[in-house]
Amino acid sequence: MTVKVLGVPYDAHSSYLRGPALAPSAIRAALSCGSANWCTESGMDLDPAQTDAWVDLGDLALADDGAAAVGIIRAAATKAIADGSGLLSLGGDHIVTWPLVQAISERHDDLTIVHFDAHPDLYDHLDGDRFSHACPFARIMEEGRAARLLQFGIRTMTPHQREQADRFGVEVHEFRDWDGMIPALHGPVYVTVDMDALDPAFAPGISHHEPGGMSTRQLLDAIRQIGDSGATIVGADIVELNPTRDVNDTTAMVAAKIFRELLGLLLQR
Ligand code: MN
Ligand code: MN
Repeated sequence: MTVKVLGVPYDAHSSYLRGPALAPSAIRAALSCGSANWCTESGMDLDPAQTDAWVDLGDLALADDGAAAVGIIRAAATKAIADGSGLLSLGGDHIVTWPLVQAISERHDDLTIVHFDAHPDLYDHLDGDRFSHACPFARIMEEGRAARLLQFGIRTMTPHQREQADRFGVEVHEFRDWDGMIPALHGPVYVTVDMDALDPAFAPGISHHEPGGMSTRQLLDAIRQIGDSGATIVGADIVELNPTRDVNDTTAMVAAKIFRELLGLLLQR
C-alpha cells in the first residue's frame, strides 16, 4: 500500500500571523538535512532512496481565496487517494484539514478523527470568517464527515466552543486532566497534528504560543498508541508550523520526526 505526501501551503485565513504556508518546504528540508536518519522509532526505514512505499506529490498552488482553496485541496486529495493510497499532508494552517477530511470521508465510512491541538478549533466563525483556522472542526462536524472526533492537548476552551463540543458530541480530553491514554479506536482513523498541541518550549515555531502543553515524548507516545490500537490509519496531517517563528529549525525537526512516525503508521495498514 502506497502513501501519498501532499504539501498544502495555505495560511490566508490564519487569525493572528501568516507563515504556515512556508511549512511544507521547511519540513522537507528538515527531513533531508542530514542531521537525522529516515527510520521510525520502531526501525522502519522510510528513506526515499531505499523504498518506493511512499511518494511526494509536491505542493499545491493556492491563492488566498478560501472557497477556491478548499475546492482545490479537496480535489487534489480525492485524486491522491483514488487508487487506495493513504494520505499524509503537510500544512498550511488548520483550515486545510476540512477539505482533506472531505476527501477522506468520501472513501471511508464511519471515520474517527484524532486531533492534537492546544485549541478545539470549533468556532462557528471567527470575526465573521467561516474559513478561519479556528473553524475546521465545526465545518467537518456540520457536514457529518466524522463518526467520532477525539481531541487531545486542549487548554483554551471558551464557553462558545464548549457549546459547540456538546452540540457535535466531540470527545474533548482537556490537557489538564489527561491521563496520557488514547481510548480504544476502531475502523478508519484520520490523525491531525496541530504543532501547537506541544508546549512552546518544545515547538516555538508556531503562531499561537499557548503555555502548558504536551511534551514531544507525550505526543510521540500518543501516536504510538494509535498505531497499536488496531484501527486503520487512512490519513494524517501536520499543520500550523510557522517557520518565521522557529528557532534553529527546532520545530521543523519536531515536525519531521512526527512526519516519520505518522508515515510509519500509514504504511503499517
Ligand atoms: Mn488547530
Ligand atoms: Mn492550535
